[in-house]
Amino acid sequence: MATDLLYLRDAELRSFDAVVLDVDADGRRVALDRTAFYATGGGQPHDTGTLAGLPVVDVRKEGEHVWHTLAGDGPLPSAGDEVHGELDWERRHALMRTHSALHVLCGVIWHEWRVPVTGGNMEPLSARMDFELDPTPENFGPRVEELVNAELAADRPIEVTFLPRAEAVLDEDLIRTKVSLVPDSVPEIRVVDIVGLDKQADGGTHVRSTGEVGRVRVVKTESKGKGNKRIRIEVVDA
Ligand SMILES: [Zn+2]
Repeated sequence: MATDLLYLRDAELRSFDAVVLDVDADGRRVALDRTAFYATGGGQPHDTGTLAGLPVVDVRKEGEHVWHTLAGDGPLPSAGDEVHGELDWERRHALMRTHSALHVLCGVIWHEWRVPVTGGNMEPLSARMDFELDPTPENFGPRVEELVNAELAADRPIEVTFLPRAEAVLDEDLIRTKVSLVPDSVPEIRVVDIVGLDKQADGGTHVRSTGEVGRVRVVKTESKGKGNKRIRIEVVDA
């Protein structure tokens, strides 16, 4: 039985009850039938919080199971036990704001310079993203910051939908943002749509509108070799 990833449909869920499917005593890890803890992936780090009263320090998806690593030396729950999970919501919400900010950045860079993103990474309220851009446009950092903050202030809705694969692969925006990289075995594509700005196949958690992100500061722009520009951002309150 696969772990039901509750956060894919409800990013606002902060606590949940689940049944333990499997226990890895040596690794102090448990697999659950359902979880609201985000497992590291797609550039977004895992959530933290508590499960069965123990601190959750790592969350990983392996095959169809999500494994939660539990700190402390308290006894682990057993297979079949019902357990309660609580997210560290401050961290998760910061990651949601940051992840949505990066999609706004992708959309802005595409609309202004028509270049794709080549990589990225995020921590709560800070992130970097690389673009296939050469040479560096004049006044690049301040210009990016101005464009991104205009889109955040516009408070665009961010919608999560699920599309059959056959339909998703025909969508121009999804083709541009590499829907083709989603494995063939996935029958339904999860789409994160910042309405009117950026649409991507994505498994991350996002805020409900760009206004909820706050504001973005471009802290640094760097050239990482020919045709690769790196932008570092911070997310701050509006
Ligand atoms: Zn994303």
